[in-house]
Amino acid sequence: MRTLLVSLVLCVLSTVAYSQTEIAHCNRSSGMDVEASDPVSDHFDMKYLWLDLAADNLSTSISGSSTLLVEIIQEEPNEFILELIDELDVLKVTVDGKEVNFTHHQDLLYISRPASVHTGDLVSISVTYEGTPNPASAGIFSGINNAQSKAWGNQITWTLSEPFNAKTWWPAKQDLNDKIDSVSVHITVPNHLKVGSNGTLTRSLSLIDGKTRHEWKSTYPMAYYLVAFTVGEYVEYNNYAKPTALSGDSIFIQNYLYNNPETLPYYKDELDMIPEMMELFSELFGLYPFHQEKYGHVMAPFSGGMEHQTMSSMGIFTFGLDAHELGHQWFGDHVTCVTWNDIWINEGFARYCEYIAAEKLLSVKNARAIMEDDMLSVTGTDTGSVYIPLDEKLTDSRIFQYRLTYLKGGLLINMIRELVDDDALFFRTLRIYLQEYGGRSASGEDFRAVLERETKMDFGSFFQQWYYGGGFPVFDITWTKLAGDTLGISIHQSTTDDVPFFSTPLEFQITFKSGQVKRLLLRPEENTQFFKVPASGQVKTLTFDPDKWLIKKVNSFHQVDENGNIILSASYQSPEELIVFPNPATTEIHLNRKINSIKIYDTTGRSILLIQLNHQVQTIDISELNPGLYFFQATDDSQLWNGKFLKE
Ligand SMILES: [Zn+2]
Repeated sequence: MRTLLVSLVLCVLSTVAYSQTEIAHCNRSSGMDVEASDPVSDHFDMKYLWLDLAADNLSTSISGSSTLLVEIIQEEPNEFILELIDELDVLKVTVDGKEVNFTHHQDLLYISRPASVHTGDLVSISVTYEGTPNPASAGIFSGINNAQSKAWGNQITWTLSEPFNAKTWWPAKQDLNDKIDSVSVHITVPNHLKVGSNGTLTRSLSLIDGKTRHEWKSTYPMAYYLVAFTVGEYVEYNNYAKPTALSGDSIFIQNYLYNNPETLPYYKDELDMIPEMMELFSELFGLYPFHQEKYGHVMAPFSGGMEHQTMSSMGIFTFGLDAHELGHQWFGDHVTCVTWNDIWINEGFARYCEYIAAEKLLSVKNARAIMEDDMLSVTGTDTGSVYIPLDEKLTDSRIFQYRLTYLKGGLLINMIRELVDDDALFFRTLRIYLQEYGGRSASGEDFRAVLERETKMDFGSFFQQWYYGGGFPVFDITWTKLAGDTLGISIHQSTTDDVPFFSTPLEFQITFKSGQVKRLLLRPEENTQFFKVPASGQVKTLTFDPDKWLIKKVNSFHQVDENGNIILSASYQSPEELIVFPNPATTEIHLNRKINSIKIYDTTGRSILLIQLNHQVQTIDISELNPGLYFFQATDDSQLWNGKFLKE
């Protein structure tokens, strides 16, 4: 899932380079912490789910039955326990067609298990119920909802069950470890409405009372929270993707858009990119896992998207969001996180799919811009791990914390790709992982095991430091030209959270005056370490982490002379220019970009001013400075600029 709001004040604003508009990425509201009980029914295995419900687009009212076909895997206990909110009235429960006793309280439905049922039996549990869960004011992430699209005016009923809210509309076994082998979703609605759901629309059957029953069926294993339906007035706009693996055959891409004359024209260009994205991901990750059914989108009035299996629910369409939800079909749906602690398995990889789509379909520069933006967000706060701590595994707002789960999670995968340093091997590893765990659930450790086996590299400390550990390294680096074509590089690492030392290789690039460049990989084993490296030729500059793949902050980066004094000439070549104007200046100087901080020195090298700009301020008051020449050193993440200006 990914949420994004087009305009708001509380969230970190980040401009996505390919987007026409500024999009704010918002954490899900902290007021929506949800507690769920532990899996209560691990004595049976979900084989098949058949939902047969009546609904419309005017309210969340539902009525009908849910039938679960389960295989008994334990003799005990003598009841089935399903999760279903108390607001739904249970009218009748049958087991294998015979009515049985039940009780329903505290959002749990206890169903008597007949004595004739034994291990290995297939049993059909059918629950008839009705009610109006979640009046519209309940909030958008609460299972089943009804609202009107503010942008388009269309009234929609939709479900969004992640992580714990399938129980608001069907009696569920909410267990990530037990995918349902196949699912039928039959929704009866007034004739003018359509229903979007999982799998294939096998038929739309006209009934006698002005109603139509839309019958969807999927035969791929599905996690409980990915089952969904959406009801509204829709128009259908379809496409086909032709991945090379299907040698000429195609994948159906079915889109349900608001029935509104302006909606389809508005999003048509976005939708027409989906086949290309599908073909790309099929190439990189293996053939789209649900290709025999379809991929599709159905619009619903919430901020962002939700990766319902084979049909994502979308509030809007953007290149990044489309790539994210499509990527989830492999990462999240086909392979699902085994616990909510391991949500990285879903969201880190889906975020990474946004980079990949940008890199391969837009430009490398575009993908880099997104990652640099994410890097700033991640290092904007010192603490926090990608892995969800055990005591927060039921806290909705922590599971889906945007900075850690999505952004840091996505950057970790890029770091793994850089460390593997072989794209063919990296993507082959992803394909093998998806093949091995497809149709099932996986943990971060499961991914690590495949990664280590395929690359023959040890990622033990990487996972300890970056996945389970919090924070990131902060570097103070000086370098100097030594006698005999040698560079001295002094590296000091401090850290921001519970990891005392990140044992990561550090990449440098030496640029020679001849224009030649040379890459170096240094592997510090302690927080402070000095390296001597050969550099035959006239060294012009040294650059740290030239591809900017390492999550870090650079506190200082200087060229020094043999006495350790900072050399104020350009010691760091910056790919993007910082312009200070006017020059000469009288009362203030302006910068052409937003950066972290600027230090101003006088001609003796004495530091006069240090100003934290924090990406906010671009104007600096120099009215207090005496007239004369000044040098400055400006920093922004791993970039550093040196320059000078004249105060009149
Ligand atoms: Zn997502």
